[in-house]
Amino acid sequence: MTERKVRVRFAPSPTGALHIGGVRTALYNYLFARQHGGELIFRIEDTDSTRFVPGAEEYIIESFKWLGIHFDEGVSFGGNYGPYRQSERRDIYKKYVQQLLDNGKAYIAFDTQEELESKRQEIKNFQYDAATRGMMRNSLTLPKEETRRLIDEGHQYVVRFKVEPNEDIHVNDMIRGDVVINSSILDDKVLYKSADELPTYHLANIVDDHLMEVSHVIRGEEWLPSAPLHVLLYRAFGWETTMPAFAHLPLLLKPDGKGKLSKRDGDRLGFPVFPLEWHDPKTGEVSSGYRESGYLPEAVINFLALLGWNPGTDQEIMTMEEMVKLFDITKCSKSGAKFDYVKGMWFNREYLLMKDNKELAPDFDKILRANGIEVPMDRVEAVIGMMKMKKINFIKDLWPLCDFFFIAPTSYSMEDKFTKKNWGETSASDMTELADILEELDDFSVEGQQTAVEKWVEVTGKKPWNPWRVALVGTGKGPDMYELSAFLGKEETLRRIRKAIDILK
Ligand code: GLU
Repeated sequence: MTERKVRVRFAPSPTGALHIGGVRTALYNYLFARQHGGELIFRIEDTDSTRFVPGAEEYIIESFKWLGIHFDEGVSFGGNYGPYRQSERRDIYKKYVQQLLDNGKAYIAFDTQEELESKRQEIKNFQYDAATRGMMRNSLTLPKEETRRLIDEGHQYVVRFKVEPNEDIHVNDMIRGDVVINSSILDDKVLYKSADELPTYHLANIVDDHLMEVSHVIRGEEWLPSAPLHVLLYRAFGWETTMPAFAHLPLLLKPDGKGKLSKRDGDRLGFPVFPLEWHDPKTGEVSSGYRESGYLPEAVINFLALLGWNPGTDQEIMTMEEMVKLFDITKCSKSGAKFDYVKGMWFNREYLLMKDNKELAPDFDKILRANGIEVPMDRVEAVIGMMKMKKINFIKDLWPLCDFFFIAPTSYSMEDKFTKKNWGETSASDMTELADILEELDDFSVEGQQTAVEKWVEVTGKKPWNPWRVALVGTGKGPDMYELSAFLGKEETLRRIRKAIDILK
């Protein structure tokens, strides 16, 4: 058999913000497509109009743009297999529903919600299947003419898939191997509803995967229970030879304890579960996003890539190119992956450190401006350069560590622990001597200061560093004193030292 062209798809339903688990699914599809020189399709599965949320589709597209996940075809990307929005494919599905009806693989059912409800009351654990369909109002139990008449009179109906009982169905999963499920546990799933003339997820999903020549279905574990039905559908259509291979990805679990990661975990522990900030159009609720929280997209991608897969070595930091090379769908874990959001912050820090200060400057500049500080960009860059190694995970963490670069201490006080510990008997006179030395300098660069100050330190044995820090910062934080003084310049440095002497004596 010749190798099939790799075509995979990410097929979200536009029911709200894209969950971070969905982002991981899309990423794995992307890596798989790229490493096989294949194509990645973006399909919108919007056949359930009751769950449609305006803005969701645009949100999803913007999220992937930010994350750097590119689709080869699909909604907003174009391509030869369109339309890629299921709500625009009604006529296509109708034809295939008819095919299943014609060859006896599906049937029409007229049961109303009330009738189904009363059956549920009557029979414990009722499900519509081989054992019960004979008791219901459908084209299998009603005379042909009656079925015709009901349709012609405009009664609403659904089309159900006729699942033959007692057969072991094999789902060949690239991660889980041979998954066997007995058909008797399946119900006769609704494939189509006359009320809105739309297919349900199952039918549309299979028809589209077939028509779009999808070779591999890579999706979340929550879809594994649907897979046996999907296998049966491929067979019912006679498409088994081109049935895609399946891979059901491990669940994302709560950071603490067991269970599926939910938005509530994010709210409770303080991390986003959405790529971008989301404004719910119905409730008005605003949910935080990775982008707005100060994450770099590369860090989010790298973090997500390792939730459920690893390259089999200790390597954690990987570019997209490396991931494309190393990724192996068959090596994904079967069991759930703990959503270690603290690790996510660590990734962000690592990526911040790898970035050029110039690239980070605009973001920090925004924060400075929000705090009323406007300085040239090279000053912003210089501060990032001095401070980025400190314990920061986000650019926004820099501000509380860096305010003194731009704002002189307004007060000096022995209430401050660092000041109390380090401003001693001789500090005022030491600082006066230091100020005199610095005042003489023409060259106020790090080296210029160093030469002069070190000479004085050598002769007198003085230790000016901590009181000097008190004077310039007001407390125990900040970079090397020469670097800080050079940044502040001679005038500002001397002003701060003299003010400290004045107040602290
Ligand atoms: N529309 C489904 C979803 O929202 C797609 C599932 C699949 O990939 O088959 O995830």
